[in-house]
Amino acid sequence: MKIPKTTLGRNIWRLRSWWGWSEEELASCAGVPPSLVRDIERGASDPRLSELTALAKAVKINVIALMSPLGELISCNESEKERLFSKVVKGDALDDCWEWRGALNHTSRSKAYGQIGMTGGELIYVHRLSYAIAAPLPKRWTIDHKCRNKLCVNPDHLEATPFGGNIAERNRRRQDDFRNGDQSNKIQREDKNFEVPRGIAWL
Ligand SMILES: [Zn+2]
Repeated sequence: MKIPKTTLGRNIWRLRSWWGWSEEELASCAGVPPSLVRDIERGASDPRLSELTALAKAVKINVIALMSPLGELISCNESEKERLFSKVVKGDALDDCWEWRGALNHTSRSKAYGQIGMTGGELIYVHRLSYAIAAPLPKRWTIDHKCRNKLCVNPDHLEATPFGGNIAERNRRRQDDFRNGDQSNKIQREDKNFEVPRGIAWL
């Protein structure tokens, strides 16, 4: 497969900027030479799959997504972040669900997802907003609850994927993995390379 270099370079640059990293910082986090990051962003490199995978893992995004346009990323301001977390109850353990206690989109709690109004008036699902605070999230991507708790906003319990594929099968597999303790895709807050984005405190 021929990788569209300009798209890849633009994606790496955008995602690196989202995290606020220099080329060297991204390279260090991904375990690749800084020259590789530089060359990719300039469209002057044809990286190996292992290098792409390492870069994708560093910026917390699906590796397949690096090769096609990301589109607009969900963004939010400090006020929206504060309003979100003011209505979230977190369990005592690190891996507990973080339950949303604010507005719902359905009168039946079993069918409901939490939602919140953004400053511009747009409504957004709270689990999407929580994920978008913890990691880059393209607007057209879906979010799955690996813990099956629709009101949970713990980003470690959420998984972002581009549209496509067998959604029912994909959800079943991920939820099975989650129950079996495989959380290999979770966002590693304890990772020494992890930097809390944009001033958000993990409470
Ligand atoms: Zn959960």
